Amino acid sequence: MTAGSLTLTILGSGTSTGVPVLGCRCTVCRSTVPENRRTRCSALLRWGGHGVLIDTATDFRQQALREGLERVDAVLFSHTHADHVHGIDDLRTFTLKGETIPVYGSAESMATIQRVFAYIFSDEMEPGFRPRLTLSAVDAPFTLFDRTVVPVPLRHGQVASFGYRVGGLAYLTDCSVVPEASLPLLDGVELLVIDALRFTPHTTHFNVAEAVAAARRIGARRTLLTHLSHEVDHHRHAAGLPEGVEFAYDGQTITLPLPD
Ligand SMILES: [Zn+2]
Ligand SMILES: [Zn+2]
Ligand SMILES: [Zn+2]
Repeated sequence: MTAGSLTLTILGSGTSTGVPVLGCRCTVCRSTVPENRRTRCSALLRWGGHGVLIDTATDFRQQALREGLERVDAVLFSHTHADHVHGIDDLRTFTLKGETIPVYGSAESMATIQRVFAYIFSDEMEPGFRPRLTLSAVDAPFTLFDRTVVPVPLRHGQVASFGYRVGGLAYLTDCSVVPEASLPLLDGVELLVIDALRFTPHTTHFNVAEAVAAARRIGARRTLLTHLSHEVDHHRHAAGLPEGVEFAYDGQTITLPLPD
């Protein structure tokens, strides 16, 4: 990792249930193919020696162990559905020496986190038993570790969510619409990670065909489909994807240049 590059690691490529789904005996849930085992949706971005999480998924601890994660320098939240936030308590291991992790998201997301995880922000509990976090509401591009992070407003059914862009990478999870007004924020994206729940339609997530159409509109050179359900059989269905589009998988790591 050099200062001039950005590394993406897919921490989790699965939908809210994870795959295998508890109690399900379908072909994908019984599959032993590693790419068909999906933890809850999250990503790690690294640049300039810093590690930035997008979401603290339910499976954050297992993801951090798998990837040998030794530091978390900031967290960007997409929205506050349970699968994207419920790993938040495990951030405390990274703040035991007194560090504070800055956390960013929409005003709505920050307010929800403060309310749902009130113990984190209460001085009544010893710091060792809660992560030390500072919440910052953002609604426009901001500087983080010398780079610009662009929140990208998305619609996720009736819920508002944020995608994030850093350099040539855009990570758009949990969305069913990329609003017209957000398209200029995605101009020139090289690598796109986008929600594609399954093949059948869904009210709050893009399905595969809709995600592929959105990727075309955005014009990304390479697209990874994430937040996948057990409808997707990684290798069997990969053959049906158009050129430049692939299914994300847990642990997938891609480095791209990050020009000054
Ligand atoms: Zn989700
Ligand atoms: Zn299944
Ligand atoms: Zn969601």
